[in-house]
Amino acid sequence: DAPRTNRRRVLLKLSGEAFGGGSLGVNPDVVQGIAAQIADAAKDVEIAIVVGGGNFFRGAELSQRGMDRGRADYMGMLGTVMNALALQDFLEQAGAATRVQSAIQMTQVAEPYIPLRAERHMEKGRVVIFGAGAGLPYFSTDTVAAQRALEIGAAEVLVAKNGVDGVYTADPKKDPTATRIDDITYQEALVRGLKIVDATAFSLCMDNAMPMLVFGMEGDAIARAIRGERLGTVVHG
Ligand code: UDP
Repeated sequence: DAPRTNRRRVLLKLSGEAFGGGSLGVNPDVVQGIAAQIADAAKDVEIAIVVGGGNFFRGAELSQRGMDRGRADYMGMLGTVMNALALQDFLEQAGAATRVQSAIQMTQVAEPYIPLRAERHMEKGRVVIFGAGAGLPYFSTDTVAAQRALEIGAAEVLVAKNGVDGVYTADPKKDPTATRIDDITYQEALVRGLKIVDATAFSLCMDNAMPMLVFGMEGDAIARAIRGERLGTVVHG
């Protein structure tokens, strides 16, 4: 649904790496810094957040080491719920009202995923955090970010990255000649195999004309992106 308020509404994707500050688990100082920015921007913008879980488990990696893929993916999804709760805590400390919705039912810690209720929370000024991905193995939280953005009528998907500040012509960690792209279509990103966001997420956004901003989370970039500043790379239809 489109927002019933005249405020801007966005879907922010935070990868698990953002929570761990590069290592396993949750780094409270890092999460506090992110939460402070989101709480401030939430005074003017309706914000929903999809959290990743790569700081705990990635299903594909565990299955390469012998685990059943579906079970490993559920472990991955449960990791995202821990990130959701950590973010909720620091957001509340920073003065924001929040709700966590989980795609896997666990009613003691989170509401179930109910999109219309999520929209109602945002209209009331609450930040909504979506945990447990889609609740489905073989999906990524990038894809869930695209899907939730569509379902709740967000203006765009904001993909905050750790250690890279946009879409590059090649992986800048591997290819020193890689340059940053300011603006690219989904079609081109897919054809060129630019994997900074997974292909399923790109194609879902392409098919539904949902714009995406891919940017680095240094400094106060998260707050600026939420408020509509064009940082990093714009990906569009
Ligand atoms: N996952 C899943 N289904 C989903 C979302 C996530 O199975 O809808 C699992 C998957 O194993 C994934 C893990 O949860 O590797 C953590 O999510 P993701 O890798 O997307 O986190 P990020 O890379 O953003 O930290």
